[in-house]
Amino acid sequence: MPIDATQAYDDQNIFAKILRDEIPAKRVYEDQWAIAFHDINPQAPTHILVIPRGPYVSWDDFSANASGETIAGFVRAVGTVARDMGLVAPGYRLLANTGGHGGQEVPHLHVHLFAGQPLGPMLA
Ligand code: IMP
Repeated sequence: MPIDATQAYDDQNIFAKILRDEIPAKRVYEDQWAIAFHDINPQAPTHILVIPRGPYVSWDDFSANASGETIAGFVRAVGTVARDMGLVAPGYRLLANTGGHGGQEVPHLHVHLFAGQPLGPMLA
């Protein structure tokens, strides 16, 4: 069920639990700003989720309310994950579903990183 991107942050959401290590995830990266782990239902040969450590519901919440330092740290973390995984030369795709029409299901900001094959057009 897609979420309302304007809702208050719910610290019982599944990614909050992954951040607190209350449920397992296949982590591939972590730093002070972000963690990254494999999506449980991959939609491409490589499908990673990168999430900020802070309590941001959506891209809207994050872009409006996070500090410049936090935004920079998160954006750099996303780039570092792709670089560390050797994805820059073959290429990759980033996606941040936001709210109902965006199809966002988990109410903690996450950027999908897809790679591993030519991905074709968006919204096909
Ligand atoms: P959204 O539709 O952009 O909110 O994407 C949520 C993503 O989280 C989906 O691709 C799910 O497969 C993924 N997901 C849900 N629960 C877990 C989990 O426990 N571990 C890893 N990925 C998850």
